[in-house]
Amino acid sequence: MDAADVRRGTVLLDSPHTMVGVRAAEVAEEVVTAAAGAMAPRVIVVAGSGFALRSWSEPLLVALRKFPLRLTIQSGLPTPESVALLARQMRAHRADVVVTVGGGSVMDAGKAAAALSITHDPTPESVVRACEEGARAEGVPPIIALPTTPGTGAEATPFATIWHRDQGRKLSLRGSALLPVTAVLDPDLLIGLPPAHFVSCLLDTLAQGLEGAWSIRADERSEWLGATAWELSADLLDRPHDRLGSAQRQAALLAGHLAGRAIAIAGTTVCHAMSYSLTLRHGLSHGHACGLTLGSVLRYNALVDDDCTDPRGAARVRGAITGVVRAAGLDSVEALARKVEELVRSPALPPAPDIRHDATRIATEALAYDRAGNNPRRVDVAALTRLLAGTAERDYAR
Ligand SMILES: [Zn+2]
Repeated sequence: MDAADVRRGTVLLDSPHTMVGVRAAEVAEEVVTAAAGAMAPRVIVVAGSGFALRSWSEPLLVALRKFPLRLTIQSGLPTPESVALLARQMRAHRADVVVTVGGGSVMDAGKAAAALSITHDPTPESVVRACEEGARAEGVPPIIALPTTPGTGAEATPFATIWHRDQGRKLSLRGSALLPVTAVLDPDLLIGLPPAHFVSCLLDTLAQGLEGAWSIRADERSEWLGATAWELSADLLDRPHDRLGSAQRQAALLAGHLAGRAIAIAGTTVCHAMSYSLTLRHGLSHGHACGLTLGSVLRYNALVDDDCTDPRGAARVRGAITGVVRAAGLDSVEALARKVEELVRSPALPPAPDIRHDATRIATEALAYDRAGNNPRRVDVAALTRLLAGTAERDYAR
């Protein structure tokens, strides 16, 4: 399967079973019935705060009202408190199937709550404990994911991000039960997406694509997935988001999905590790926070040499980066980094905050996340501080 194949209409991928270019309302009944494996399953829909305003929400609800249905709206980032409340609502409804309709935060909330809904009395403490111990699999209702933003890849991963604001820390809930059984990539679900969200999600796709390719846990599949995500995104980068047709919306969704599959294999690296403090302390959206350092980290990792942390060697890492450069239709690492930086400066996004005064703290916090260890070139507080401070590549000369 190459990029041309996946771009062409409906493609079925396994685990999650992925439907591309279909109308969500038209397939909803069939998908729910197949997931439940039972007659008249009880369905809970977890949707984002913009749900009621979207033109596609009513036809989708009409299709799902064939089942005993409860609709819940999730706004903001998932927290231990919001996940526990949602898990209790799932228990009260005795949900057989969880349908998440939204961006990464909504899907993550639905995935985490489904996993916690098998707990007798879900509480914020039990959510935090599950993040430490891993989610149990038995009895968790199957999850169907309908992404309404491109790029988070949450519909393709067996983990969920939960934000512990009291501790100023991001938690991660992992477990096979969190992997949706079916992902429906309907390009029409992107209609009405605000410009800032679209650009932020595209940056997340680009970061996840590159990180999934260069991570020390990358393999041939994740390198291919990451590069293909870039190939599909290439002609979206120079185009005003508000003039996207159905084909471009589908390309954006699929790129995000493939990048999500790449990180499901390879994990993320320092861009994501640094993003969490940028989100918690500086209020940046997830994709914006990941994209902010992506250009600098790309230049840094492309110069990997005897400081390579991948046992397969620096040539493997440089080869993975070259694969992405080519897939994007460019001829150099510098051109790729500039593409990312142009997108970060998009007028659709709020101006980036001045983080120089906070760079050391962000660097220190980033290194405490496991995923920083996936970076293929050695990093320490000083190196990340320089990257964050936006120091030019020549300053990294060794
Ligand atoms: Zn991400």
